[in-house]
Amino acid sequence: MTDVERRPDRSPVPAGWTYAPAPESTEIVSLRERYGLFVGGEWVSPRSGEFFETISPRDEVPLAQVAQAGEQDVTAATEAAREAFGAWSTLPGSERAKYLFRIARILAERSREFAVLESLNGGKPIKEARDVDLPLAAAHFFYYAGWADKLEYAFPNRRPKPLGVAGQIIPWNFPLLMLSWKIAPALAAGNTVVLKPAETTPLTALLFCDVLRQAELPPGVVNIVTGDGRAGAALVEADVEKVAFTGSTEVGKAIQRRLAGSGKKLTLELGGKAANIVFDDAAVDQAVEGIVNGIYFNQGHVCCAGSRLFVQESIYEPIVDKLKRRMATLRVGDPLDKNTDVGAINSRMQLDKIEELVAAGRAEGAEIYQPPCRLPEKGYWFAPTVFTNVAQSYRIAQEEIFGPVLSVLTFRTPDEAVEKANNTPYGLSAGIWTEKGSRILWMAERLRAGVVWANTFNRFDPTSPFGGYKESGFGREGGLHGLEPYLAFDA
Ligand code: NAD
Repeated sequence: MTDVERRPDRSPVPAGWTYAPAPESTEIVSLRERYGLFVGGEWVSPRSGEFFETISPRDEVPLAQVAQAGEQDVTAATEAAREAFGAWSTLPGSERAKYLFRIARILAERSREFAVLESLNGGKPIKEARDVDLPLAAAHFFYYAGWADKLEYAFPNRRPKPLGVAGQIIPWNFPLLMLSWKIAPALAAGNTVVLKPAETTPLTALLFCDVLRQAELPPGVVNIVTGDGRAGAALVEADVEKVAFTGSTEVGKAIQRRLAGSGKKLTLELGGKAANIVFDDAAVDQAVEGIVNGIYFNQGHVCCAGSRLFVQESIYEPIVDKLKRRMATLRVGDPLDKNTDVGAINSRMQLDKIEELVAAGRAEGAEIYQPPCRLPEKGYWFAPTVFTNVAQSYRIAQEEIFGPVLSVLTFRTPDEAVEKANNTPYGLSAGIWTEKGSRILWMAERLRAGVVWANTFNRFDPTSPFGGYKESGFGREGGLHGLEPYLAFDA
């Protein structure tokens, strides 16, 4: 340990600082009282006749009524997509690109409106919706627009062809961003789409229909059907050539079983329990920032969250001390306040799941730390939490919590770090903190994770493929790899 690390940190803990409220206005968003389904370029009433309420998790206030699509509704949407496929798939790639560029530009222009709505409906801090979700969503459309007329070059001598209709199902943690990850490559490759957003966060997908109209995308190329898992299950069964699913491992497995032998193409982006590994030569303050970003970003509702922290034994104490001090500076509260670092938990159901796993952590003998913070009375909240004294067998070290809860474990050697990091059914992502380049490469080669970050965490780029191993799924989104699952090849 260096002297600097041994010396006590004398900087004041700014937990007591008070910040004036800096609320983002919601005036820019205008919501309808009730939303139908977006099929064939039109808003249609659900044949099911069913609607459900979508709320804001920060105060449980209802925002709008949203349609629950039934089987007939999903069939109507896939038929509209099939009808649109002929013309869309035979458009020159450069023409398809124009629409994608238009969508990207409109998203960028309307990004404040989308960011506010994303924060309102999902509970994420406005600064994250504004600075991460929206720029990345637009960047995905820009990126795939660039490939639409270059598919022959992307896959030389393989004669790429679109598949047909893609059924896409997404979760609630990055609603618009997951929509972009799905729709942009599908359209660039010449497919048409039926997408189902998650039931707790349908509003930005519904606002996106307005963008499609503004971009004059031909009717039926993108159809949006809302509803819960029943609508998702109907979409899996429907007449589609490809299913792309992002969500829990449990539902992903059920979909894989359902589609076995059907000939439909499938990609699954599922859960994770990432290891964030800190070696004793790491830049400690940067590592602490990376740990915080790794687990408290988006309330930990992140499939690739660094939820298992592995610290080399010799620096365990300074890291944990600094981490706790840093946690005390996190501002938890109204997602629409521009100062907020940790917003609301997405739903009552998710809060119950987090509470249950945290109770299990305590019961199994782990030591809990939560910084003092005043949580709002209404809405769904959970304080940033760290568990120390965690054994690998504890549920909090094995199961995906999908909340702001970190489990700290230790290791002595790189071999031990690899063995412990890989001791999980998941394999989505990992982080390595060390100043030694050769160690980064040595570790990255051995970690069973689709994405490995070095001296950073939770960094995304549309050009870079993302996806998992083992129970984290298969198939990649982003980059050229993300186009491939939407294409058929002659050779
Ligand atoms: P979930 O599986 O409950 O739901 C995901 C989506 O599937 C929702 O739209 C839901 O309505 C739908 N669905 C539910 N049951 C279905 C069924 N039987 N058939 C078809 N569709 C069905 O997951 P969630 O709770 O919304 O999301 C959290 C999970 O998503 C976490 O496990 C997280 O790790 C994972 N996730 C993974 C990635 C990734 O890229 N790997 C990204 C984000 C989230």
